[in-house]
Amino acid sequence: MRKKIAAGNWKMNLTAPEAWSLAENVINAFKGNTKANAQVIFAPPYPYLAKVVEMAAGNDRVLVSAQNLHQAENGAYTGEISASMLTSIGVTHVILGHSERRQYFGESNSLLASKIDKALAHGLVPIYCIGETLEERESGQTLDVNRKQLSEGAFHLDAANFSKLIIAYEPVWAIGTGKTASPAQAQEVHGFIRSLIAEQYGLDVAGQTSILYGGSVKAANAAELFTQPDIDGGLVGGASLIAADFAGIIAAL
Ligand code: PEP
Repeated sequence: MRKKIAAGNWKMNLTAPEAWSLAENVINAFKGNTKANAQVIFAPPYPYLAKVVEMAAGNDRVLVSAQNLHQAENGAYTGEISASMLTSIGVTHVILGHSERRQYFGESNSLLASKIDKALAHGLVPIYCIGETLEERESGQTLDVNRKQLSEGAFHLDAANFSKLIIAYEPVWAIGTGKTASPAQAQEVHGFIRSLIAEQYGLDVAGQTSILYGGSVKAANAAELFTQPDIDGGLVGGASLIAADFAGIIAAL
């Protein structure tokens, strides 16, 4: 059975006390959830990772992700963070290819392919983000853009490695804008992504891959999105910063 996941990307938000209180409240709210295949993933800023890992210890369905990593093993890269630093403090996942990294930091599919390789080499689970801009959607390029990002970033992997990935479909026009893709719009792309994975790796791998939707997910729209056949949960920005809101999203898994 594939995993149903609520991942909260805190981005560059929260002071330390706010972060501890958010993590604590969400972990407590998730305690009563008995769905065996449900997972919560926190993606805090780097300075908070070790402490949030400690807070999540003891609940094997609560995991911690970095928001990025550097593709080199180690060395003279001031300000960067390596895969082994992350695993050495108990981080298990890493978000790669978020549209903000693509847009503001110029991250290309080929750079992301090398980051995915580095993450996998260290046993980290990449949460690989893909998604089209508004302009691309309006000019009819949605499926082509998603195909290109998926294939150039991840289809160099063999099936064993690809099956470790989580994919996040995040239409750029829906991120932080309050505009959510309709369940039908999201399902169309999720179904397409799963069909591409099936073509490349077969139905078993496609059926096991969790594909998350991201883009203004809220407690109020989560259930409608998550009940689509190819949507396995959400990668959530804004609403993951408020414990009650994120708990509502988790409940919809
Ligand atoms: C995100 O940053 O991945 C995201 C989906 O943000 P928001 O939920 O705020 O749209």
